Amino acid sequence: MSISEDNGQPLAIEVKDVTVSYGDTPVLQNVSLSIEHGVMVALVGPNGAGKSTLFKAILGLIPTDSGEIYIHGLPFSKIRGELAYIPQSEQVNWLFPLNCADVVMLGRQRKIGWFRKPSKLDREIVDESLRRVGLADRRGALITELSGGQRQRLFVARALAQEAHTLLLDEAFSGVDVASQEGLMEMLTSLTVEGKTVLLATHDLTNMSGRFDLCCCLNKHVCAFGKPSEAFTPEVLEELYGTHAYTI
Ligand code: ADP
Repeated sequence: MSISEDNGQPLAIEVKDVTVSYGDTPVLQNVSLSIEHGVMVALVGPNGAGKSTLFKAILGLIPTDSGEIYIHGLPFSKIRGELAYIPQSEQVNWLFPLNCADVVMLGRQRKIGWFRKPSKLDREIVDESLRRVGLADRRGALITELSGGQRQRLFVARALAQEAHTLLLDEAFSGVDVASQEGLMEMLTSLTVEGKTVLLATHDLTNMSGRFDLCCCLNKHVCAFGKPSEAFTPEVLEELYGTHAYTI
């Protein structure tokens, strides 16, 4: 485990020399990544680059061949809600007859326990989380009625109710319009100002790269990791997207 040079705290996420294979096929090769608290990081790479696989490894959902991963200085088995995953809204079954407050309350489940009812404090935290993401007026709305952008914000509210400090967002720009992307970025920026850490995976940064503190360019291995202005060199773009990158 490494300690941040800035504040002496364990890093928000630390991935050390991680290799992951599906069967005999290596998908991530010697990936290392050190992310401090309170930063917004884009994980950028083409489809098939291994972004989801890296998220699954960080979330402890798949075994690694080698390497180590720490969240807030702890292995996944020891963390208690510090990490929240916000899935691509298209990958969720939205037909469940749940309303927005129900979904956000799921974020409280670990704190409430399975056999107790939510307390007044739990309900207040749910309301505050919905307010933070601009969905207070949709509290009782069924999730089927939400737009793609609202669904994403609902999952961020669930992460806030969970009191997570580090948020992983998978393909957050897919299936939402540009205005919703802007709204999401503004909201995530306000969370990083409070010290939360955001790692957002996307195959296409469009015009958003300047909004991130750091970019990790991934194509099975880390091609570059640094400020957006420094990470996206012509060589890195070619490694990510081939010669086609020059025409983008
Ligand atoms: P990305 O999220 O960047 O699109 P993925 O992590 O989903 O990339 O996939 C990386 C590679 O691993 C791809 O070649 C994909 O086909 C392969 N892959 C992903 N999941 C599995 C799986 N469960 N079994 C076998 N191969 C997989």
